[in-house]
Amino acid sequence: MNARPCGRFAPSPSGRLHLGSLVAALGSWLFAHAAGGRWLVRIEDLDREREVASATRHIIATLAAFGLHPDAPVVRQSTRTGLYRAALQRLADAGHAYRCWCSRGDLEPLGGIHPPTCVARPGPREPAWRLRVGEACLGFDDRICGPYRQQLATAVGDFVIWRADGACAYQLAVVVDDAAQGITEVVRGADLLDSTPRQLLLQRLLGLPQPSYAHLPLVLDAQGRKLSKHEDARPVEAGAPLPALRAALRVLGQQVASAGSVADVLAHALRTFDAERIPASRAPDDCRSA
Ligand code: GLU
Repeated sequence: MNARPCGRFAPSPSGRLHLGSLVAALGSWLFAHAAGGRWLVRIEDLDREREVASATRHIIATLAAFGLHPDAPVVRQSTRTGLYRAALQRLADAGHAYRCWCSRGDLEPLGGIHPPTCVARPGPREPAWRLRVGEACLGFDDRICGPYRQQLATAVGDFVIWRADGACAYQLAVVVDDAAQGITEVVRGADLLDSTPRQLLLQRLLGLPQPSYAHLPLVLDAQGRKLSKHEDARPVEAGAPLPALRAALRVLGQQVASAGSVADVLAHALRTFDAERIPASRAPDDCRSA
């Protein structure tokens, strides 16, 4: 079966779009459209504590100002809890997920990595749910960064798929949504490269298709740190989009039209798009050789 390619941009509404998130939006848009596919926007608003009021509205309006229009109505994760609960139930019923009362403090002596059995005993508060990772060493071939493998037990341990505060965790929600929305290619920032093996394991256990992955270069600040929406990265200007659009194309290693409107610059970028020119960020594999 040859599904029409479908990509997505999945911002968390923890602030306005900055150059780093624009790179992810534009990169995913270019991959999808260059392949004749569709491009969707999903607002990842499960973490209510980190959500900034009006960020969702700003993100959608800013994408439009940059000429990046989704091919279907925007989806919000906060409206999809039933889907995530059903997936958790399946994992729990199959014995892949278990309740956990361990706190961050309990796991500190273990480097934050949860072992196969809990450190804390059941208590009065609500538990989190964790996924058993066992001996899984999962790898994939990133379209930009190349082969990447991870031994989950040593890199992350049994990880949280449902939080003690009652919210579905990012790793589970993203896998459920990518499958439910028919996403065939995940294109996003390289900070999520090392989350991908967790997502591959969840796809495998839930019997979901595996999309292709492309992890884009990160935009770093003067100290070499990732720009993130909740630090003080400057938002891109929706009122004057061309400078940031050109800057984002340069981060992606693409040709930049020297003149024209937003629509002209995008059309030129699409015509000349070359994924081979995107610089690769590399994270070391962390599978121990057996
Ligand atoms: N919501 C995540 C973020 O804003 C991105 C998730 C993804 O693309 O898989 O960092």
